[in-house]
Amino acid sequence: MIPVNEPLLNGNEKKYLNECIDTGWISSEGPFVKKFEEQFAATVGRKYGIAVANGSVALDVAVTAAGIGKGDEVIMPAFTIISPAASVVRAGGIPVLVDSDPITWNIDVEKLKIKIEDEIEGKENKNLKAITVVHIYGLPVDMDPILEVADRYGLKIIEDAAEMHGQTYKGKPCGSFGDISIFSFYPNKHITTGEGGMVLTDDDGIAERLRSLRNLCFLPQRRFVHEELGWNFRMTNLQAALGVAQLERIDEFIARKRRMGILYTELLKDVPGIELPLAKTDFAQNIYWVFGIVLKDEVPFDAETMANKLAAYKIGTRPFFWPMHEQPVFQRMGLFNGERYPVAEKLARRGLYIPSGLALKEDQIRRVAQTIKEIMIESEQR
Ligand SMILES: *Cc1c(COP(=O)(O)O)cnc(C)c1O
Repeated sequence: MIPVNEPLLNGNEKKYLNECIDTGWISSEGPFVKKFEEQFAATVGRKYGIAVANGSVALDVAVTAAGIGKGDEVIMPAFTIISPAASVVRAGGIPVLVDSDPITWNIDVEKLKIKIEDEIEGKENKNLKAITVVHIYGLPVDMDPILEVADRYGLKIIEDAAEMHGQTYKGKPCGSFGDISIFSFYPNKHITTGEGGMVLTDDDGIAERLRSLRNLCFLPQRRFVHEELGWNFRMTNLQAALGVAQLERIDEFIARKRRMGILYTELLKDVPGIELPLAKTDFAQNIYWVFGIVLKDEVPFDAETMANKLAAYKIGTRPFFWPMHEQPVFQRMGLFNGERYPVAEKLARRGLYIPSGLALKEDQIRRVAQTIKEIMIESEQR
């Protein structure tokens, strides 16, 4: 089987893990945690990095530190992983959805602006508090118009850069735009700690609050006394040791991903029936967190069938995200009643991603591409 994702762990990972064991520093108090926080924050150009247990809980503390609470609305894309919406719902807030751009698969910025103007100017909506920007699969969201509209209406920005390590927008690092930004270090991300996440900010007060929320909101002057409920979302020294080793190679990893994306594009560009990710936009080159393909409307089968066909050739795939308005858990809560987001719905049904891990080899990429080509040509002839 060609795995869909496989990390590269052949740098200093073992050495640093051994250091943890040799010194006995395995909890979150160990020195690698601070080191990883400082070094990662520096790569994103941010003042503070607060390491947490994963990217999803990074969003939980981010939303809470952004002051989102009962009845507050947060605008976000319909097409994303559940974590951004879940964090808002858990905080008592309401996600407000916007459809995607069919070419970049990111939130449609024009529709976002119209939605915000309608919400605020039409209904004098005082509940809209923030925008969760999610960069999807490899291309950054067009940030300038979002920063402008957020500024005009006093909205906070939570930036979900979980898939964007090493990516930039107009030369500025992704993860440096939000009032609060987050990353994930799950093994399929560019940098992994097994499980892990980071919350970043430049604001001293927010940083302090994030640290407190991550650590059960212990009162600094008297441990075991609490004025607020926090979480234990701490990252261990073992995880951070992996992170420090991985971060040493971020440039190499990004270059590998770009080579993978360019080779796939070259091999697949004339294959009938599939849409490929854009290699670049006006503001960034694709970083190919994953290499997604979308089956065109004329193809007589959907992404699930395509995944089964590829599995028969021992090629691993993953489906695209499933849109938030079609999530049974949110429908049962009465959210997004009757709402439709056609681009998100199509991406969910016609999109999948092919093997994209850092450990993928060139001959595997060629085999995957050749197999896709044969499947698509055969389907065209029938
Ligand atoms: C991976 C991911 C997350 C969640 O990160 P975990 O570490 O898996 O919890 C959140 N948002 C996006 C966009 C992601 O891709």
